[in-house]
Amino acid sequence: MKAWAVVRNSEPLECIEVTMPEPTGSQVVLAVEACGVCHSDLHFWKGSYNLGGGKILTLADRGVTLPRAPGHEIVGRAIAAGPDATGVTLGESYIVYPWIGCGRCDDCANEDDNLCTSQNSIGVLQHGGFASEVVAAHPRYLVPLGSLDPALASTFACSGITVYNAIQKVMPLAPDRPIVLIGAGGLGLAAIAMLRAFDHKAIISVDIDPAKRQAALGMGATATVDGAGEGVSGRIVEAAGGPVSAVIDFVNATGTAAAGFGALAKGGRLVNVGVAGGELTLSLAGMVFRNVSVMGSNTGSVKDLRAVVQLAKSGKLPSTPVTRFPKDSANDAMRKLKSGEITGRAVLVETV
Ligand SMILES: [Zn+2]
Ligand SMILES: [Zn+2]
Repeated sequence: MKAWAVVRNSEPLECIEVTMPEPTGSQVVLAVEACGVCHSDLHFWKGSYNLGGGKILTLADRGVTLPRAPGHEIVGRAIAAGPDATGVTLGESYIVYPWIGCGRCDDCANEDDNLCTSQNSIGVLQHGGFASEVVAAHPRYLVPLGSLDPALASTFACSGITVYNAIQKVMPLAPDRPIVLIGAGGLGLAAIAMLRAFDHKAIISVDIDPAKRQAALGMGATATVDGAGEGVSGRIVEAAGGPVSAVIDFVNATGTAAAGFGALAKGGRLVNVGVAGGELTLSLAGMVFRNVSVMGSNTGSVKDLRAVVQLAKSGKLPSTPVTRFPKDSANDAMRKLKSGEITGRAVLVETV
């Protein structure tokens, strides 16, 4: 099979030939029909994360070897299955849950693979959707596509479950209580769509780019805030009519997290989602006096994926913008995402 792979960090992806996988046990092989391009793929390409305080986490530290095809937002057609893979229909299309765990720990038994400490994620520790085929470890990681658009539905596998899980962490919240979303890229717009599906009425989007703020308004944000320069916390409070109970930071850099934290009301929650990285200095006594919470949110579970797909199939979840690229243009899609030229999600498809 062919795979657009990271061969050397930060250098253009190369199309390499990889041995076609033979499914064993409960494995299912799928021919990739669509694969979203996520900011995590850019970090994978670069090969490192900024942990703050001058510390860097490399993907080599996480056990990643190259060459490796990235891509974890996958829709594929099941083409082969191992003898123990029951309940999968060959020829059918599925959304693939990528953040698979060890399959043996309590979190995995509870289908909370994203909390497993020994993951075997697709597009990170095994070849992802930038390849022509991928392997799902078990049919339970596959959610039937039905009549959904493959390009849009592919984004549910990371973007969709990530925003769903993060929003659960600030709920329940009355529909007219503002929720602040920092960043209006793929995740920010998906979060606006998800909040609309939940009939939330007060959605404030923060971004440094006027075009992205415009896209947020188009998606249904009720107000936007310029995230550039000084005084961002003050502008958020002003737009919200007071300090806010919920901030979800899809950028999660030193500056954005501080701006979100500074805008919190007593009892408010800041949810960290992006991996731009850096650090947040907290007054420990201040945490108590303000009764605030800061919490990380790492993607979502396959249960979240089923919930998001059900929401989409019910017609309640508005579609987010998708830009299709032929798979041969994977480098172009990555470059455009990196330079901020993509509104919503770039998705690699077999034919545009
Ligand atoms: Zn992702
Ligand atoms: Zn596990």
